[in-house]
Amino acid sequence: MNKSKKSFKWLGALVLAAMLVISGCGNNNAGGKNAAAGGNNAAASGDSEAIAKIKERGKLLVGVKYDTRLFGLKDPASGNVEGFDIDISKAIAKHILGDENAIELKEVTSKTRIPMLNNGEIDMVVATMTITEDRKKEVDFSDVYFQAGQSLLVKKGSPIKGLEDVTKDTKILGSKGATSIKNIKEKVPGVTVLEFDNYQDAFSALKAGQGDALTTDDAILYGMASQDPDFEVVGEPFTDEPYGIAIQKGNSDVVQAVNDTLAELKESGDYDAIYTKWIGKAPAK
Ligand code: GLU
Repeated sequence: MNKSKKSFKWLGALVLAAMLVISGCGNNNAGGKNAAAGGNNAAASGDSEAIAKIKERGKLLVGVKYDTRLFGLKDPASGNVEGFDIDISKAIAKHILGDENAIELKEVTSKTRIPMLNNGEIDMVVATMTITEDRKKEVDFSDVYFQAGQSLLVKKGSPIKGLEDVTKDTKILGSKGATSIKNIKEKVPGVTVLEFDNYQDAFSALKAGQGDALTTDDAILYGMASQDPDFEVVGEPFTDEPYGIAIQKGNSDVVQAVNDTLAELKESGDYDAIYTKWIGKAPAK
């Protein structure tokens, strides 16, 4: 009799413990949205579908430029795509999948990157993309990972030495879907802008004398100038272009994984090494 009373007590304690565990789980689930975004355990909870999908696939699909020296440029001979944005993408693949080569790069242009992201062709865009309020209506962004500013590329000897020399009679060349087009039209109302599908075509048009200046971010223009000594970047940058990695709206776990990667890269010094490798100097602190 005594014995069975004792075991009832034990059973009661067990039931109580089980109830506590269950109710504890309930609380965790309620808070799961934030918790899921925070770490590797995210794969088990509801808010982490995007990361789970990437892990299941075993590779990260990243939209990068193929025609932008220093950031994302495809070498036609080897087929390799290289640049600052590629090195950042590899670090993200390593963080999420444990292997920097578990990645498939897909070509985007300034015009195609948001549609390709939002129709699910790619998991993220790492392609010289400025964080803007307008774009935030369509995509989510990581923290800033590069700071650029808009500038002008001209043929050496051009009378254009900076933005102050651009008038409405100047013929400007640019890439469709870039912030640079909207910015230059705001800075010089009435200016003529010829828009190309990508930067390769815009630079070819400048070389062929189809326009007076090509406008986009200074970092991209320096990459072009390094290809052809007849061209130079002039004047001071006249906008702020903070680059962010774009991710489909609602995939907060992916945004978190990217931000964690960027923080790790900065902490370890690898960010400075990647920056110096491509930009030729250490980032401003
Ligand atoms: N950073 C600017 C933008 O996001 C210009 C460079 C580009 O076209 O990718 O529009």
